[in-house]
Amino acid sequence: MQHDRIFNFSAGPAMMPEPVLEEIRQELMNYQGSGMCVMEMSHRSPVFQQIIDQAEADLRRLMEIPDNYKVLFVQGGGTLQFAMVPMNLMKNGKACYVETGSWSKKAIAEAKKYGEVTVIASSADKNFTYIPDCSQLDIPDDCDYVYICENETINGVTWNQLPNTKGHVLVADQSSLFLSRPCKVSDYGLIWAGVQKNVGPAGLAVVIIREDLLREDLPTYVPTYLSYKTHADNSSLYNTPNCWAIYCCGKVFRYLLEIGGLEEMARRNEAKAKILYDFLDHSQLFRGAVVPGDRSLMNVPFVTVDKELDLQVAAACKAAGFDNLKGHKSVGGLRASIYNAMPVEGVQALVDFLREFEANYR
Ligand SMILES: *Cc1c(COP(=O)(O)O)cnc(C)c1O
Repeated sequence: MQHDRIFNFSAGPAMMPEPVLEEIRQELMNYQGSGMCVMEMSHRSPVFQQIIDQAEADLRRLMEIPDNYKVLFVQGGGTLQFAMVPMNLMKNGKACYVETGSWSKKAIAEAKKYGEVTVIASSADKNFTYIPDCSQLDIPDDCDYVYICENETINGVTWNQLPNTKGHVLVADQSSLFLSRPCKVSDYGLIWAGVQKNVGPAGLAVVIIREDLLREDLPTYVPTYLSYKTHADNSSLYNTPNCWAIYCCGKVFRYLLEIGGLEEMARRNEAKAKILYDFLDHSQLFRGAVVPGDRSLMNVPFVTVDKELDLQVAAACKAAGFDNLKGHKSVGGLRASIYNAMPVEGVQALVDFLREFEANYR
């Protein structure tokens, strides 16, 4: 790595690809002859219009998004989507949620403010260390949508097989696995992702929504800004958007296309995560927290034999240049977030360090 950068295992905001950061630096003072930085640009200018159009076009190519889906760039990060989803999609006032960890719990709590929420499956019984079997769920006919968090950032579980929604609309929070593997968009009614985990700067969510879910007849309490239709009708330029984040995300979309798209990204992510999981599976001191079939390739929670030692490991890692390995405060232990932009060298170096720590400990 150049510029004395460290391997940053943060769960988010997280690492961005170095070639992208370099490009952004080169364009910082004068974006492509415009004489200004993207941060200084009018969002109504042709030069910014070109940036947002290109970002959308590249994302559409990357995910092969069908024409009957809108791509929206919405402010408010991930958390606002916990409210926007029920506000916009609860027609009958009923939704089904699958509870698989901290972020789906937050989504459930927020949705309850707007309607009747049924938790149709949960892995709370085993501390959210697996994805429940969702092949035969009991879903009421008048349920407006089924909601999942496709990768639980804190608990480290990932859906590898989507739930059988029996024809109901599927909504997925993809924040922490967005663009980490191929995704068949037509399986979903709505996909959303806060971008600071796997794409760019915080404060922006990408929403991919099937057109028939955009509604005219929203309850009057829904603010204009919180209607998906507002953003769709105005091509994400209803008000001043997060121009800077859109620009940076656009760079990352382009970068992913250039390296070979989502299949290549998935191949790299699998190889990268395998190095860490193989180590954890063979270690006497460390062990992964999640059942093997449902492990996340993005967020890897692990523990030692006791809490004190976990903290010691995190501190030793930090001193050695591996930052942000302390587990989330709600679950403790350790967590390595190894998103798209984490190079394989970073994971290998971490594993070498942990192996040596273990050898010295014994
Ligand atoms: C980080 C995260 C969020 C919340 O994102 P904010 O932008 O901080 O509001 C929601 N869902 C998942 C899965 C996340 O990882």
